[in-house]
Amino acid sequence: MENIVPCTAETGVSDRYLDQVQRAQRDPEAFWLSQARRLVWHQAPSHASRSDFGGDVRIAWYEDGQLNVAENCLDRHVLNQPDKTALIWEGQEDGQRVELTYRELHAQVCRLANTLRRLGVGKGDRVAIHLPMVAEGVISMLACARIGAIHVVLFGGFSAEGLAERLTDSGAVVVITADVARRGAKTIPSKITMDEALAACGAKCAVRHVLVVPVTGAEVPMQPGRDLSFAAEVAMEMPDCPAEVMDACDPLFLMYTSGSTGRPKGVVHGTGGYLVWASYTHEVVFGAQPTDVFWCTADTSWITGHTYVVYGPLCNGGTVLIYEGLPSWPQPGRWWDVIDRNNVTVFYTSPTVVRAAMREDADVVRSRSLASLRVLGTVGEPISPEAWQWFYDEVGRKCCPVVDTWWQTETGGVMITASAGQVRGKPGAAGLPLPGVEAVLVDAQSQQEVTGVGDGLLCMARSWPGQAMTLWQDHARFRQTYFTTCPGRYFSGDGARREGDGYFWITGRVDDVVNVSGHRIGTAEIEDAVATDAEVVESAAVGVPHDLKGQGLVVFVVPRMEGSLDPAAVRRAIADGVGRYAVPEQIYVVRDLPKTRSGKIVRRLLRKIASHDLSNLGDLSTLSDPDIVEEIIAQVAGQE
Ligand code: ATP
Ligand code: MG
Repeated sequence: MENIVPCTAETGVSDRYLDQVQRAQRDPEAFWLSQARRLVWHQAPSHASRSDFGGDVRIAWYEDGQLNVAENCLDRHVLNQPDKTALIWEGQEDGQRVELTYRELHAQVCRLANTLRRLGVGKGDRVAIHLPMVAEGVISMLACARIGAIHVVLFGGFSAEGLAERLTDSGAVVVITADVARRGAKTIPSKITMDEALAACGAKCAVRHVLVVPVTGAEVPMQPGRDLSFAAEVAMEMPDCPAEVMDACDPLFLMYTSGSTGRPKGVVHGTGGYLVWASYTHEVVFGAQPTDVFWCTADTSWITGHTYVVYGPLCNGGTVLIYEGLPSWPQPGRWWDVIDRNNVTVFYTSPTVVRAAMREDADVVRSRSLASLRVLGTVGEPISPEAWQWFYDEVGRKCCPVVDTWWQTETGGVMITASAGQVRGKPGAAGLPLPGVEAVLVDAQSQQEVTGVGDGLLCMARSWPGQAMTLWQDHARFRQTYFTTCPGRYFSGDGARREGDGYFWITGRVDDVVNVSGHRIGTAEIEDAVATDAEVVESAAVGVPHDLKGQGLVVFVVPRMEGSLDPAAVRRAIADGVGRYAVPEQIYVVRDLPKTRSGKIVRRLLRKIASHDLSNLGDLSTLSDPDIVEEIIAQVAGQE
């Protein structure tokens, strides 16, 4: 198998890692079957994969195995380590802190599972969870898993229309929401927005009950018969609940992708394969230790929050931290205090959080201890070499590996990274495919695999346990989206380059490649060059139609301080870093960029704004700051 270029010790890969890579290549079936032993099964699987990327496409892992995810994440640890802390929750107000041991978390999950059963929720029913970062979010996911209900976690910041679309598509029968959510000084009216969403669903609404979690105890309208108090309902139930025995290929949850590229897709993850993947990647990528306090800052409404706030660490018997608040509220450095107070060992966040922290006074991070940290990680977007280095130097104090993890909602967990302690990290490179991940690069024109050094469409030649099984009620779209561009392989939608040492560099979404006078330029390449200017916090490059060149480049740049950035310096940085042919038509210095809830820059919107096409901007409520769009539109119009 030549897909993974062999790495030698000089390239900074441990022998153990190499051994795993080779084992997985030699006999994937045996490798993945042995990984299934991470879990407790009611019926152990007799084979690993029965997946097929051809024909109608079939993703099936551990098919004849039977298990329950909540038993794996709770019951077995209650037997071995009942008093270990499973979950630490910190609220955004000073002094709000709750610790739950495995025994306590198990009891709370069981009470809610009993409540849901009493409300008529059964195996295969969908339950929507619409909560801020409170312990009840984790409890709700595990309670669904316990009774075999499929959870659909929805972002707390969605508009009523955004919620209604997903509630209707998923056919949820019960909703778990909050009275309100807090976001710094702002209060978000969760329950009222949910009421509007339910009204907007109209006849298509399958929701029978709404459980309301008291986050602040605010008074909210309650519809008699339909709306119930979460606290009162669970208090009536016993702290024990028999778990539903599930088939490995039964769905565990639906997750709508962040929608950076258009209409959200309801990605369906299975039970056995997904949980093996969550456990395996949590251990291999972060070198997980029993003494870890694991803080993944992702919202639970994002896949990262599913796999690395809940399922991976809890399946592995770890301690997870969730924090309700923003990084810099009520003052900069809040998250560093959370790390110090809780002795966090692994800190896993997004590049946008790192970029924002870089923008602050150096003192903010330097005045904190951060001595408990062992591993740092990022996900969601490429991290520029500058930001990587800052994270390593300033937060990790030059002694914590930084894992830049490439993966997708559809992959269930990390696929390509420089695993902590096993693979040496390189600023700007994602790293190596994990053992068992058969990442290949395919030439778009010839459909040939690029061997050795080269660029191509990033694909997977073979299924892996965490692979999504389908799109909710739309298997045709699943096949069309992922399996037709490069037949016989899974196509990620991203491009990548492989260097001589086997490291992968993600060049961005293939749609984001801009063709200027015949030169194909990855937007990530431009943004990396722009990032070398110390006055730049972040930037986004997009292509716009151009009469002569085919496409022209437009770059949006966020400066460290208002007025501190000279667009001419940005042009020079691009000319020096990429080449004169890549110098943009226009540079807009803006206050911020439109981003999704998970911190991704929404280039789709910037592309439309830069090309003066303001039709169908889509649902802006999925953005973390919807106002910025109007601001940028006005600026672009004004600068013509
Ligand atoms: P949609 O598919 O609806 O457009 P999305 O792709 O943004 O939404 P996610 O599944 O959350 O939804 O994001 C996965 C994508 O994020 C990847 O395909 C890749 O483009 C980008 N990405 C994630 N991690 C990294 C990383 N470490 N380096 C570079 N890009 C990354
Ligand atoms: Mg995607």
